[in-house]
This record gives sequence, structure tokens and C-alpha cells, in this order.
Amino acid sequence: MQGFTEDHEQFRHSLRSFVEREVTPHAVSWEHEGQVPRELFNKLGALGYLGVRLSPEYGGSGLDFWYTSVLVQELMKCGSVGVAVAIMTHAEFATKIIEMAGSDYLKETFLKPAITGEMVGSLGVTEPGAGSDVASLRTKAVRDGDDYIINGSKTFITNGTISDFVTTAVRTGGPGHAGISLIVVPTNTPGLTRKRLKKIGTHSSDTAELFFDDCRVPARNMLGQENGGFKPIMHGFSGERLVLSLIACAQMRLMWDAARQHGHDRQAFGQSLLDFQVWRHRLADALTSIHAAEALMYQGIDLYVRGEPCNAEISMSKLFCTETAISVARECAQIHGGMSHMEECQMARLYRDSLAFTIGAGTSEVLREIISGATGLSSSRQR
Ligand SMILES: Cc1cc2nc3c(=O)[nH]c(=O)nc-3n(C[C@H](O)[C@H](O)[C@H](O)COP(=O)(O)OP(=O)(O)OC[C@H]3O[C@@H](n4cnc5c(N)ncnc54)[C@H](O)[C@@H]3O)c2cc1C
Repeated sequence: MQGFTEDHEQFRHSLRSFVEREVTPHAVSWEHEGQVPRELFNKLGALGYLGVRLSPEYGGSGLDFWYTSVLVQELMKCGSVGVAVAIMTHAEFATKIIEMAGSDYLKETFLKPAITGEMVGSLGVTEPGAGSDVASLRTKAVRDGDDYIINGSKTFITNGTISDFVTTAVRTGGPGHAGISLIVVPTNTPGLTRKRLKKIGTHSSDTAELFFDDCRVPARNMLGQENGGFKPIMHGFSGERLVLSLIACAQMRLMWDAARQHGHDRQAFGQSLLDFQVWRHRLADALTSIHAAEALMYQGIDLYVRGEPCNAEISMSKLFCTETAISVARECAQIHGGMSHMEECQMARLYRDSLAFTIGAGTSEVLREIISGATGLSSSRQR
């Protein structure tokens, strides 16, 4: 496995000082505001951090996914999971798909300014009636001259109220996956309205419901072929699932470090908590789980970077990392006692944030179906 080289570590070094200076001091106030500011995208874009693995032709750096991994790991050091969610939804989920399937026009109009941070992107696939079952989505786009007219709604869309464009999955053909297309919709399009949703966690990331009411969008905003949208959506899931694995692992490290510190500092019955064997063993088990999760994740990244088939391995990585994060969160919260329920305590915020990641970009159940299909347990063809 190649892993991180000296170049990756240099990249990490400069990114770390940026995060310490420009992100960490503001992370808690962004949690209260329910979003990261536009300024952060501008600053990250100016330094080239929003186009890490995107094409140099459009302003990206064309680097490998190990650099993306460093980006996620260092953003996570700010201690607010929503920050990494907001930035990576823009820098990976909403934009990689445009690079993959978009025309020169779409790359010039949306990808280029997204890489500089002048535009913010989101990815709109999920609907109130269609989540895991992407192929059943109903938001409709009908061709009218040089435009498409879109009607329907999307929900749980990260960056939904702060984005300038939504890479939107729509139905242009018959039922099932063969009737799905992707259209890039500018969020100032008349007929598009947005409502921020109130979440239980990842508070610095904005999540929204979108309503399309006779939204007229130029036909040239279609990403790839009409009715050819399902494949790029599925293809994009590999990077998304690795990003969520990275977030989960980085989050576990933060929680474990906090638990160890608290275990040393907190006195009970005349000794520190870590003088009780039970807590040493529980944290030793948690660390063992973190190492196992990281090993699985790095294996997935390695296969992905080398272009090997890795759908099952990436699914295993996302499944194991995000499920393990919930159990590690519980252990690390428990040693914090009552503080694990206080808003002011970072551990408490990380604890509740751990719950989101077994849902987004393929639920644990859907991932188990993929693993089943890939290993001869079933013939399922889901996501
Ligand atoms: C914080 C957050 C951010 C998100 N950001 C985005 C975003 O930016 N863009 C976007 O498009 N979406 C986003 N989502 C939506 C996310 O992708 C969906 O919630 C997810 O795909 C699940 O869909 P659903 O919520 O409709 O649940 P459902 O699909 O209704 O699933 C409900 C339950 O049924 C289970 N289930 C479904 N199918 C099967 C099956 N075949 N076998 C067994 N069990 C099954 C699921 O695993 C789950 O436990 C986000 C979600 C969250 C929580």
C-alpha cells in the first residue's frame, strides 16, 4: 500500500496551520449559526483546497485521493463534524460528479467557480418518498424547447440553503433507474424555494428541503446524456463513502483522545478514572476498534487510488467505520459522565454527530446488501 508519502505530509502540515488559524477558533459559533460562512469557501478555494483531486484544466490540482484524505482528516481537527460535511459535500460530492459527467460548458460555468470557492455546490438526490431506493425518485423534468421544466422536491440536502447550484437528480424518462437524469440547477432559478431543516447533530452543516415549482433550467445544464444520470450517481458513491469513512475515523480519534484526557484528569474515589482497570480496558477496546476501522478504510482508499475494483471493500469500510464510531462514541461519552450531555462539551457534540453517518451515502443496511451481492450471498443490485 502506498499510503501517505512525504508530499502528502507536507500538504498536511500547511493545511493544519490553516485549520488552526481560520477554522478551529470559529467552529463552535458556526454550530450555533447552523452553517459555515461563505468566507470559508473563499479562503479554502484561494489556497487550492477545494479542487484537490479535480482537473487542473478547470483550476483543480489533479491530486490523488490520499490528498483528499488529508483534507478530511485535518478539517476534522477543528472538532466540529459539520464543517467537514459542508466542505466535502461541496468539494467532493457536488463537484466530482460534474467533472465526471459534465460538458465543457458546465465545467466552465459551475466547476471552475466551485474550485475557487466563488460558488458553493450541493447534491440533490434524496426525496421525501425516495431515499435508499434512488431509482424510484419522482422529481420530474420535462423538455420545453431549449429548457427543462422541473417540478418536485428534495430533502436532507447538505448545503441546501447556502449553495449556488444543486446537482439535481430528476426523472426525464420512464420508471426505474433508466429514466433518471442529472441537471445542474442554479439556486436563484425562479420557482426554487429552500427551507433549512433542524437537525439533532452536525449543526455547523446546513441541511435543507428544496421545492421545485415550474423551475425553468436551460437544457445545456443537463449533466451527460438524458436518462443517463443513474450511473454517475452510483459512481460518485465510492468517493462519498470513503469521505464518510474518513470523517468517522477522525471523529473517533478526537473522541478517544478526549476520553483518555478525561480519564486521566477526573478523580473519583481517591483515584483517577484510568486507575480503574475497567476504564483502561474499555478505552483499549475502543482504540483497537479504531485501528481496525482505519485499516479497512486505508485498504479501500488504496484500491480506489489504484483503480482496482473496490465496491465491496469501500462498502465494508463505510459500514464498519460509521457503525464503530457510534459504539466508540458511547464509550467515550460514558467516561465523561454528566458532561457527555452538556452542549458546551465537545465530546457531547461529537457523540450526537456520530449518528448521522450510518444513514447518508448509503445506509448500513444498503451497504450490507451491496456486500452480500458482491460476495455471492445474494444477487442484489442496490446502490
Ligand atoms: C445529515 C444528512 C445529510 C444528508 N445529505 C444529503 C445530501 O446532501 N444529498 C442527498 O441527496 N441526500 C442527503 N441525505 C439523505 C440520505 O442520503 C438518505 O437519508 C439516505 O439515503 C436514506 O434514505 P431515507 O432517509 O429516505 O431512508 P429510507 O431509504 O426510507 O430507509 C429507512 C430505513 O430502511 C432501511 N432500508 C431501506 N432499504 C432497505 C433494504 N433494501 N433492506 C433493508 N433495509 C432497508 C434503511 O437502511 C433505513 O434503515 C442526507 C442525510 C442526512 C441524515
